[in-house]
Amino acid sequence: MSNWKYLTDRLAAEHHLTDEEMKAVLLCDAPGFDEYISEKARKVREAYYGKDVYLRGLIEISNICRNNCYYCGIRSGNTNCERYRLSKEQILSCCDIGYELGFRTFVMQGGEDPFYTDELIVSIIGDIKKKYPDCAVTLSMGEFEKESYQKFFDAGADRYLLRHETADKAHYEMLHPAGMSFEHRMKCLRDLKEIGYQVGTGMMVGSPYQTAEHLVKDLRFLKEFRPHMVGMGPFIPHHDTQYADRPAGTVEMTVRLLAIIRLLLPDVLLPATTALGTIDPVGREKGLLAGANVIMPNLSPADVRAKYLLYDNKKVTGDEAAEAVREMEKRIASVGYEAVVARGDHADFRE
Ligand code: SAH
Repeated sequence: MSNWKYLTDRLAAEHHLTDEEMKAVLLCDAPGFDEYISEKARKVREAYYGKDVYLRGLIEISNICRNNCYYCGIRSGNTNCERYRLSKEQILSCCDIGYELGFRTFVMQGGEDPFYTDELIVSIIGDIKKKYPDCAVTLSMGEFEKESYQKFFDAGADRYLLRHETADKAHYEMLHPAGMSFEHRMKCLRDLKEIGYQVGTGMMVGSPYQTAEHLVKDLRFLKEFRPHMVGMGPFIPHHDTQYADRPAGTVEMTVRLLAIIRLLLPDVLLPATTALGTIDPVGREKGLLAGANVIMPNLSPADVRAKYLLYDNKKVTGDEAAEAVREMEKRIASVGYEAVVARGDHADFRE
């Protein structure tokens, strides 16, 4: 592709490209292209967020799941997975540790575990907000009906992460069993937005059967849906899934997509994910240098971290959360950015 500079400049200026142009950008193999687009993305990110990196304390509340997503290590059909769930008290004690360390957002993520009834979730959110009114609560617990999402919101939840996984229905069905529906996932995302959450969505890069056309569709969906956050990392195979032998997504493509998304949605909150840090020891730093502005260190109790294995080779340090956070702050500083103590809301939600 010879006009990659022109296309990148236009994407940076207009935050839009046609599908054909987007595909050309995705497939571009010109030397110098990735440096060029990363630098553009960095400039846009710095115009909106300066050098700030927001930290989110990730609490992996349960690896028990009623779903059987074919790519996921904690899918219900994996009988080799040693299951756990955290009690309300354990979750609150993660928040206590996290608050001390400077986190002002707590993300509760887990499988779709029926143990957490609406009432229990409402009461956990209520307790966190009562103790830490200056903190944001993010949920990442999968699909519910709108009434439940509304209850969680009314209890004080601020944000919800639910990746669309792929914007192509046929592709969605290759990644999920028949009981899961593309339409319902999309409905959940619309419901969350209507209720008033800051909503995060996203996809895996290099998931089984993914094509450049699928990614173009994902990007078009992101542009139309306008999420406040985009969570995107490489697919990484898990040994106890049917996709065990599939190749992982690449660091190059993931970083390129981060840069594209920064240019497409200039003020979006964009994490450099743990999965990116798993396929490349400095993957997250590369992500930060391509427009990412969020990092989600693990606040889960040390003894459960190794059990929340969505994919193989997840970096599980037995370290205290404190050590891991200080280490992360150093890494962030090493690329010229700064981890800040702040809720880090999307611009549309700032007071
Ligand atoms: N049950 C919640 C949380 C899922 S885990 C939900 O449905 O939203 C969070 C994300 O991890 C998923 O959305 C998926 O995109 C990602 N993930 C799962 N398995 C993965 C794998 N093998 N490689 C990379 N990412 C994976």
